[in-house]
Amino acid sequence: MPKDDCIFCKIAKGEIKTEFIAEAEDYVSFKDINPQAPAHALVIPREHFESLNEVDSPKIMGNLLEGAKKTAEKLGIRDNYRVVINTGSQAGQAVFHIHLHVLGGRAMQWPPG
Ligand code: AMP
Ligand code: ZN
Repeated sequence: MPKDDCIFCKIAKGEIKTEFIAEAEDYVSFKDINPQAPAHALVIPREHFESLNEVDSPKIMGNLLEGAKKTAEKLGIRDNYRVVINTGSQAGQAVFHIHLHVLGGRAMQWPPG
């Protein structure tokens, strides 16, 4: 069920015009509006789940990871990229529709902040 006040539901439904990098039956990906790396995209399910904890299907997570891989390929960073899922505000989650960050184009630090 889409959530009326959810920005990522609006993007997935095409209500906010957004260029998709990759898309499939159950996900879309697009550039992050505030990039933290030269390449930074988000992969989201078309269906609304608040966070990883609410996703009830391993198949959806598998497809989202497939979407991350496709997105990295399309961005030209397939040999070096990081996939991040922030869960909960203390972990940095600000948009409560699960999303995978796909980051690349620069060397990454470890551990993350
Ligand atoms: P998180 O902090 O893990 O919840 O990540 C939310 C991400 O969504 C941030 O990196 C934001 O820059 C990004 N974001 C928020 N609104 C939009 C939007 N309309 N289009 C693209 N990215 C967005
Ligand atoms: Zn949503």
